Amino acid sequence: MRKFLFSSLVFGAAILLIFPASAQKKSTPVNNEPVKTLALDDLQGKYDTYKKIALQIWDYAEVGYKEVKSSALHQKTLQDNGFTVEAGVAGIPTAFVATYGNGKPVIGILAEYDALPGLAQQAVPEKKAIDGQAAGHACGHHLFGTASVAAGIEIKKLIEAKKFGGTIKVFGCPAEEGGSGKVYMVRAGLFADADVVIHWHPGADNSVTMTSALANKSAKFRFHGLSAHAAAAPERGRSALDGVEALDYMVNMMREHVPQETRIHYVITNGGKAPNVVPDFSEVYYYVRHPKRDDVVSIFDRLVKAAEGAAMGTGTTMDYEIIGGTHDLLLNRTLGDAMQKNLEKVGGVSYTTEEMEFAKKLQSTFGYKVPAIETAATVKPIKEESNAGGGSTDVGDVSYAVPTVGMSAATWVPGTPAHSWQAVACGGTDIGTKGMMVAAKTMALTAIDLFTNPALIEKAKAEFIKAKGDYQYKALLGDRKPALNYRD
Ligand SMILES: [Zn+2]
Repeated sequence: MRKFLFSSLVFGAAILLIFPASAQKKSTPVNNEPVKTLALDDLQGKYDTYKKIALQIWDYAEVGYKEVKSSALHQKTLQDNGFTVEAGVAGIPTAFVATYGNGKPVIGILAEYDALPGLAQQAVPEKKAIDGQAAGHACGHHLFGTASVAAGIEIKKLIEAKKFGGTIKVFGCPAEEGGSGKVYMVRAGLFADADVVIHWHPGADNSVTMTSALANKSAKFRFHGLSAHAAAAPERGRSALDGVEALDYMVNMMREHVPQETRIHYVITNGGKAPNVVPDFSEVYYYVRHPKRDDVVSIFDRLVKAAEGAAMGTGTTMDYEIIGGTHDLLLNRTLGDAMQKNLEKVGGVSYTTEEMEFAKKLQSTFGYKVPAIETAATVKPIKEESNAGGGSTDVGDVSYAVPTVGMSAATWVPGTPAHSWQAVACGGTDIGTKGMMVAAKTMALTAIDLFTNPALIEKAKAEFIKAKGDYQYKALLGDRKPALNYRD
């Protein structure tokens, strides 16, 4: 060891003699392995601290734009660790930007923390609601935010210890589930000075995200009619629910005449109150998705025409409110390859005997073939998918503002789908929090690469510029203010 160190020193000195300082700086990759080891050890030592924060937010289970306590806890944790926090950014009370350090590079990490309505569930492997609670962390955003905060704090410590220079930012991003929180943050220019933004998502495997997302536009269509006794004077009434049903009927016929990859779904959020009263108000909430944002826009415009026709034909009036709009996800292979190496270094999640029992019971609740439990301990090879996957994310909008890279960590038992009670259950156990640490560590290591290797940022930026082409970003939700009450 000592001999090796000595010979390295001699070699290093020889390099310095042969090459001028600037050339030497460019051709010698920095050995950041010791810094990475330091970060990994430190993060592992903080497992209980971050587990506690994640489980606290799992308990809060606050839905989009109502994440007051969850956001405050993350902000306090970051402040206590030396970050400067700007809260209430982009006109959203629960959004924040936490910053530490100075100058370039500026590396950002996204944190989410909203729960889903109607999915409260105990941390047990059988379907069991929680009395008095409506929402649950069925997308694991309590883990998402906490891992991002953990990685951010780790990088702050390394900047403070002068391992490298630059700025680390943790972006507190509310209302990912349908609220398009990040779109307003992009619109407000909050990512303008960031060089690279890192993100992750809880999942059922460990992999680097090389699948895009569906662009998405959503709206609530509201029909207004006339109330009347449904039996004694139906001719005097005009049913707002008829308007909704006529719209739904037309859209269901439209499905035959839209591009194959289109996804359109709706829920009737208000269908009237009683069968013997002709409803004077009715509302339907629609999502339109497609891999290409231009197709989403044109299909959505046809939906509006159908809604106008439905109102005309039923003698009602209609107005609509755009609720969300997100871009597809721009991928970055340069950053993906860097993250993959780090994810492989960190490795997956191994279960204890009790966790294995939990996992087996949970898997028995799925009515389909599931991957082996042991796959949670493995890392998938990096693979670029040509399809856009099935989901949408407001990270898409961030990906058009700055080069981004993301990953999935196995926070759920293999086979568990997002937005299920099983996902909520896993998120309340060590299975979830152990997966969370895989993400925290991998993101921290990837950030270390970016801070210590300027060429990596340059290469990622060149790829980003090429992929984006001449597209000028335009938010799909237009210039509306954040839909702060969309969960009411
Ligand atoms: Zn999610």
